[in-house]
Amino acid sequence: MLRTRIAPTPSGYLHHGNALSFLATAALARAAEGSLGLRIDDLDKARRRRVYLDDLFESLTWLGIRPDRGPRNSEDFLQHHSQHLRLSRYRQWLDQLAETGQVYACSCSRRQIRERSPDGRYPGTCRERGLPLDRPGLAWRVRVPETRRVTFAEWRQGERQIDLYQAMGDFVVKQKNGLPAYQIASLADDLDAGINFIVRGEDLRPSTAAQVFLAGLLNAPAFGRALFWHHPLLLDRHGGKLSKSEGAEALFNLRRCGPVPTGWYRQVGDWLGLNVSGSGLPELIQMLKPLVPELQRL
Ligand SMILES: [Zn+2]
Repeated sequence: MLRTRIAPTPSGYLHHGNALSFLATAALARAAEGSLGLRIDDLDKARRRRVYLDDLFESLTWLGIRPDRGPRNSEDFLQHHSQHLRLSRYRQWLDQLAETGQVYACSCSRRQIRERSPDGRYPGTCRERGLPLDRPGLAWRVRVPETRRVTFAEWRQGERQIDLYQAMGDFVVKQKNGLPAYQIASLADDLDAGINFIVRGEDLRPSTAAQVFLAGLLNAPAFGRALFWHHPLLLDRHGGKLSKSEGAEALFNLRRCGPVPTGWYRQVGDWLGLNVSGSGLPELIQMLKPLVPELQRL
């Protein structure tokens, strides 16, 4: 059975782009008669705020999305589902990477990396320095072989290959503050929840490759067998990526004005190659049914 999830970060108010991604994920889960989960990525505790959590649950209700699994409200999330309750799980994996010599410690600041590497990719400065992994205040980076290609299955497109070294370089798996990096926590959460279909924006394709690579190092090949769909991104007026906002694109502002705009369903339909009228989620689900046999077989 298809198992998917929506995975927001409560570090700002949700915007129009988040809503479309959630609607697409929910419509695909329902069309394939799969299971939809909610998992909230709150590793960055400093930016997590209760109002953002409340905004998330209110937005899901407004969008008509009722996940089958995961927290039911902010209180339930904080008590039973926060990623800070799973740190020992993430640590296990970091230890496993350390024991097998896959990671090294790095003391570089962002500024130092920028100075040495115009494209922002880590230049490998600390690779052979042998800094002690247990020294506090150092990040851990995973060694990515320079010739490494990572492959995964992209829904409706077949196999996709990414040059991981080119895309990410030696990426961080443990932050300087001791917390696991996004790639580790996200992978552990998805694997432990048995996720086999992941919908995310196309800006996260390099992250997908990083996580498939990590899953291989951690002997968790199930993740590499998952199916992925990276949808197009909505751009702001200036052609940039939409960011968490308090402005006109913020869902809390739009919720006050009435129901979900019909244009949003048409936009999701466009991504999926469907010509929908925009009447709502049920229409989208109905029209998706002939497109999802591959998802039904998961
Ligand atoms: Zn370094």
